[in-house]
Amino acid sequence: MTENFKWVMGIESSCDETAVAILKDGTTLAANLVSSQIPIHKIYGGVVPEIASRQHMETINLLIDEAAREAGITLQDLDGIVVAKGPGLVGALLVGVSTAKALAYGLGIPLLGINHMEGHIYANWLAHGPIEFPALGLIVSGGHTALMLLEDYGCYRLLGQTRDDAAGEAFDKVARAMKLGYPGGPVIEQLAAQGDPKAFDLPRAWLKDHPWEFSFSGLKTAVLNLINQAAMRGETIDSKDMAASFQSCVVEVLTEKTMAAAEAFKVTRILMAGGVSANKGLQESLGRRCREAGYTLYYPSPALCTDNAAMIAAAGYHRLRQGHRSGWDLNAHPSLGLEEM
Ligand code: AMP
Ligand code: MG
Repeated sequence: MTENFKWVMGIESSCDETAVAILKDGTTLAANLVSSQIPIHKIYGGVVPEIASRQHMETINLLIDEAAREAGITLQDLDGIVVAKGPGLVGALLVGVSTAKALAYGLGIPLLGINHMEGHIYANWLAHGPIEFPALGLIVSGGHTALMLLEDYGCYRLLGQTRDDAAGEAFDKVARAMKLGYPGGPVIEQLAAQGDPKAFDLPRAWLKDHPWEFSFSGLKTAVLNLINQAAMRGETIDSKDMAASFQSCVVEVLTEKTMAAAEAFKVTRILMAGGVSANKGLQESLGRRCREAGYTLYYPSPALCTDNAAMIAAAGYHRLRQGHRSGWDLNAHPSLGLEEM
């Protein structure tokens, strides 16, 4: 028998965002709070794990109280707690996991640890309502790039993933080389809109024998080499043209491989998940191809593309209803893979 999970709290602390959300009846966001540490880490050019953990510790209890206040409930009203158990930074994850455990134990309610990447997929449920299965998932984040066949709630098949850098990681590393700061995605997207995507001829890794796999390290290295060679000649590279050329490579590879997988697996619903799905160039390119093919493309609103706890609660809600539970020995899993979803 499926229990009713009227009020479900989601907790997310895998990287540099402390987030708490409360979901009502699996669909209504009663509270969705995100405290971003980006301004703190920005000066270091990337996330500093120790600082991230400490920041999570300082913020998480405040967010939990504030979320309950916003939702107009007390913590005793909660019916379940879902937390991202991995992948991510171990110290950062542990803050969310131990807080969720303590809270669920104290309140005597079910606890569930889920894969952070499964949360990203369900951000689409919050943005668009229930999406019918089967669907093809394009997971594009700072740590992952993968194609997944989503067959039912909790039933997924990993078709292929990146062999080296994730798409978001390539955005971040190229941005760092161009001295554009962290995170790289939004600033490259902004510059790309004003540049010529054909200015630089950069490599696209098609991996013809492994069509569902990706590789972005060759592209990243090509950009870095061009920047270094220009510097040695005492020249500078036009950052708008470089951003546009780089982004168009990433977008083209993601678009073509996704369309080919949709055709091969006869799926007409495609959903994007993860921070890179906020990229307008990618949304437009894949959107155009989906319209031509008669497919439906889903992606979350910008606030739900990046890390948040609403998506953790949404993914966990379905699993809680299916009877999934974690024990009090729940731990953080920093390198939890997509295949372990
Ligand atoms: P996530 O790992 O899902 O939390 O997403 C963070 C990653 O998404 C980082 O690598 C960002 O650079 C990337 N990202 C965020 N916004 C954009 C954007 N508009 N275009 C491309 N990448 C983005
Ligand atoms: Mg994420």
